[in-house]
Amino acid sequence: MDEKIYLDNAATTYVSGEVLNEMLPCFNTIYGNSSSVHKFGREAIGIVDRARDRIANVINAEKSNEIYFTSGGTEANNWAIKGIASANRDKGNHIITSSIEHDSVLASCKCLEKLGFKITYLPVDQHGLVSIADLMHQIKKETILISIMSVNNEIGTIQNIKAIAKTAHESGIIFHTDATQALGNLMINVQDMEIDVMTMSAHKVYGPKGVGALYIKNGIKIDNLIDGGSQERGKRGGTLNVPAIAGFGKAVEIAGRDLSVNQQKLKAIRTYFLEKVTEKIPYIHLNGHAQQKVQSIVNLAFEMIEGESILMLLDLDGISVSTGSACASGSTELSHVLKAIGLDEELARGSIRFSFGKSITKAKVDYVIEKLVSAVEKLRNISPLTKTGRAKKQDNKK
Ligand SMILES: *Cc1c(COP(=O)(O)O)cnc(C)c1O
Repeated sequence: MDEKIYLDNAATTYVSGEVLNEMLPCFNTIYGNSSSVHKFGREAIGIVDRARDRIANVINAEKSNEIYFTSGGTEANNWAIKGIASANRDKGNHIITSSIEHDSVLASCKCLEKLGFKITYLPVDQHGLVSIADLMHQIKKETILISIMSVNNEIGTIQNIKAIAKTAHESGIIFHTDATQALGNLMINVQDMEIDVMTMSAHKVYGPKGVGALYIKNGIKIDNLIDGGSQERGKRGGTLNVPAIAGFGKAVEIAGRDLSVNQQKLKAIRTYFLEKVTEKIPYIHLNGHAQQKVQSIVNLAFEMIEGESILMLLDLDGISVSTGSACASGSTELSHVLKAIGLDEELARGSIRFSFGKSITKAKVDYVIEKLVSAVEKLRNISPLTKTGRAKKQDNKK
């Protein structure tokens, strides 16, 4: 197989054909400025409105005007955390988040700490779950915001979002969730799940890069992100990226339409992959939650070897995987997520994330398993840890 096999869909996805077709006319045919009042402008505003409606519809927002377009998930997370903090400062200066959030949430919180806000970073259990009891225990009268991600991008664990939101609301606290990895993987219903503010990004759901959105329920107090334009109800000024927004809207519509078909397929692929890999490779561990997880992400720890080395050997065979989040890889720092679920250094360094996308086939998975088995064997044969590390300890126990 000389085909390239891309198993890094949690980092980004390709732009699907239907999405690309939706975008193309917006570059050179429907190219008006969506703020102009003439025909060209009205056409552009029509495209943007349709995208907004499609997204509102899939997440079951009450009104389309609760969707605000941004340049992506990172911007939406920054806006949510900082904008809610500053708009509600008169009520208090305490925020609760988790220790496994995306860096854009953690870094926004760090920034607020410098401004005098107090942040509680909730720990997670070995499966990556936040405890509701812990959360309740940390709520103070100064708490103004709880921000917990819906799905973790490294291990795929799904949080109990509705229970967390209810807990927040019982104390009159605003609830934000980074749902970037949930979109396309889970049914999201912001009203039923009681989500006040929610982050989304297009390029994780077969849409273009550089566009995303923040859902802000009407009535939630949040400061403007960019001043100097009437776009996005004055909250986020600047001429809209109409082609990207058109593509994002289409991508989300498709994600909603195909959700159950895609999930069924990914579930079968995941089950098959895990079954074969556990059968053929000893001394491995599944990171994350065995049940409460998205089907697309499988994170495995391989004892006695480095994930980075597995990644490079697989890359030579045309298979693209990741050792963690796109932001963390390339650095020598351990993943904050794998640390938070309690992995020791050897297992954290020996972990690989396989994130499957909708174009995966059983034949591709078979090829990946074959190459993975041989990569792991090769590396363990030369690993200095093999004779002294865990394998030996476990063999002695037997
Ligand atoms: C990718 C990702 C982001 C960042 O989104 P961008 O659009 O790339 O800025 C935020 N949170 C999570 C969980 C992600 O997976």
